[in-house]
Parts: sequence; C-alpha cells; structure tokens
Amino acid sequence: MGSDNAPRVIGNFEKDLKERGIEFLLDTKVSDLIIEKNTSRGVVLQDGTEIRSRFTIIAPGRVGAKWIDEIIQKHKIGAKYAPIDVGVRVEVPAIVMDPITKINRDPKFHIQTKTYDDFVRTFCTNEHGFVVKEEYEDFIATNGHSMTNMESENTNFAFIVRVELTEPIENTVRYGRSIAKLATTIGGGKPVLQRLGDLRRGRRSTEKRIKKNVVVNTLKDVTPGDISMALPHRIVTDIREGLEVLNEIIPGVASDSTLLYAPEVKFYSMQVLVDRNMESSVRNLFAAGDGAGLSRDIVNAAATGVIAGRGILKKSG
Ligand SMILES: Cc1cc2nc3c(=O)[nH]c(=O)nc-3n(C[C@H](O)[C@H](O)[C@H](O)COP(=O)(O)OP(=O)(O)OC[C@H]3O[C@@H](n4cnc5c(N)ncnc54)[C@H](O)[C@@H]3O)c2cc1C
Repeated sequence: MGSDNAPRVIGNFEKDLKERGIEFLLDTKVSDLIIEKNTSRGVVLQDGTEIRSRFTIIAPGRVGAKWIDEIIQKHKIGAKYAPIDVGVRVEVPAIVMDPITKINRDPKFHIQTKTYDDFVRTFCTNEHGFVVKEEYEDFIATNGHSMTNMESENTNFAFIVRVELTEPIENTVRYGRSIAKLATTIGGGKPVLQRLGDLRRGRRSTEKRIKKNVVVNTLKDVTPGDISMALPHRIVTDIREGLEVLNEIIPGVASDSTLLYAPEVKFYSMQVLVDRNMESSVRNLFAAGDGAGLSRDIVNAAATGVIAGRGILKKSG
C-alpha cells in the first residue's frame, strides 16, 4: 500500500472501530500488567492509573521487545527466547533488481553461508524505495520503505543473519542491542554507510568516496565508515559471502558500488508461549504480533490479533 498511504488506511481502521464502539487511548504508555492469582485483571498506565479488564491482549510491536522482556520476567509469564536477525540494509540501482521484483515485489532468498554455515536471508525489499533510520531508546538502526506517489532510482532490502544463542547467554535481545549500540557508537549516532568495494578492500568509506559512487544513497543522515568496525566479524563474513551467492542469481547485486547501511536489526525477542487461541500461561492474558514474538510481518501480526480476538470471544461467550 506504500508508506504514504498508510495513514489513510489506518485512519479508516480507526474510524470503523470507533463506529463500533471501540475507545482509543493514544499516546498512553502501559507500564505494567495487573495479574492476580495467575489471572489477568487489566493494566497500569505510566501515570499510575489502573484500567481493570477481564481480558487483556499484549501486542506492543518490536519497539516493545524490551518491555515485554521485563514483563515476562516480573510476572513469570511462560516464554522462550527466539532468535534475532542482524545485518545490513543493502541498496542497489533498481534496474539490478527489476528482473526479480517484476516477478515478486518482496522476494525471499535463503542462503547458508560457506565459512560458518549460518542462515542469511533477504527480507523487506523496497522496489524504487528509500532507506530510513529507525530510532530506538538507546541506539539507531536502519529499515526501508516504498511510497505509492514517490519513487527513487534504487531498490533496497534487508540482508540479515539469524543469531541464535545457547548457554551461557540465551538472551538474544541483549546481544542484539549491544551490537546495535556498538554500531551506533561507531556511526556517531547515525547509521554507518559503506560501499561494498571499500569493505572488500578493508578501508572505510569517506564522504568523498560516497559522493562519487554510482549508486546515490537515499538516506542522507549517515556516517560513511567501516562496517567491519560496527558488526561482529562472523556477521560481516556472512554478509560478504551471502552477497556473492546472491550475485549468482541477481548479477550486479555484489558490485563494488553496492551500498551497505548498518545496523539492520530485527528483534523478535522473547516469544510468549500461547495456546491455539493466543492465550498465554496467565489466564485471560492474550498476546499477538511482533513484540510477543508471534509474528514477523504485517499480515501475520494482524492474523495473530484476529485469532486472539476470536479467542476472547470464545471465552466470554
Ligand atoms: C519502516 C518499516 C517498514 C516495514 N515494512 C514492512 C513491509 O513492507 N511488509 C511487512 O510485512 N512488514 C513491514 N514492516 C514490519 C511491520 O510494520 C510489523 O511487522 C507490524 O507492524 C507488526 O505489528 P504489531 O501490531 O505487532 O506491532 P506495531 O505495529 O509495532 O504496533 C505496536 C504498537 O504498540 C505500541 N506500544 C509499544 N509498547 C507500548 C506500551 N508499553 N504501552 C502502550 N503502547 C505500546 C507501539 O507504540 C505501537 O504503536 C515494516 C516495519 C517498519 C518499521
């Protein structure tokens, strides 16, 4: 639908729901859940106000990954750590990707890398799109989007490595955050931008090198630098090897002029353990969407919300 159309689509959702008697409390942060005898009784807002309810759905999105983590620990809600994805946002001339994106606008390529046998994949392709900066509480990251009414000459996609941890630390979110913080430090609070050719030659990209590059970066608020200083060696190796494989399928994708922005981090964090109706281990507490680790995109986030809604209807009926 394009990011520029999103406010209209969401606005229509809101209007429709209000007409059906739904009340919204926007710009209102939930700080805690009220749980008594392992049963959900409502929520506590940031200003201390309590909202009592028979059923609650927690669906705070990726931005709420840390909050969910704290809530799970505090209330001992059944959950497990899920892997995260760390890597870069890749930007190439749209013409390089056109033969593929004409067939599938968001193609998914899954690659096992040579050296580490890691899983790396393409995700969230934005045809003629724009790279954007994502701001988290204490670090920045990158993402991409496309518009309906505005096009760039480039196509971008996430190229991310699956990171799963076992002992002694299973907390992938904490690990992912520390990588993102390191990258943010190196970039002076901005995403690090490097040409693939510079990464190959073991040198940083500079303002001058970026300026004379054939591919013009759509995100300007960046620091030209060295991605191998920002991301762990294993992830950089996976990205380099993965792009070489991708280049066999999409010639030109691993050119020296290809732009890499770091970090791109996808937190899926703790996955709340739920039953078929999305009910958690706490009675009448339901979970849905990316923040609860139950989805990784818009359609599935919406689907888990619908299942949770139906689950509540079943119980309240
Ligand atoms: C730039 C960008 C581009 C994307 N492009 C695509 C795409 O092309 N295709 C695709 O499938 N997916 C895409 N995604 C991912 C998609 O947006 C998510 O998968 C989807 O929005 C998840 O839905 P959700 O309801 O779980 O969470 P969200 O949509 O994130 O909604 C969660 C809401 O909860 C709020 N919240 C969090 N914590 C609290 C709290 N404590 N109290 C009150 N409110 C709270 C948040 O502010 C937010 O409004 C993109 C994401 C971004 C950022």
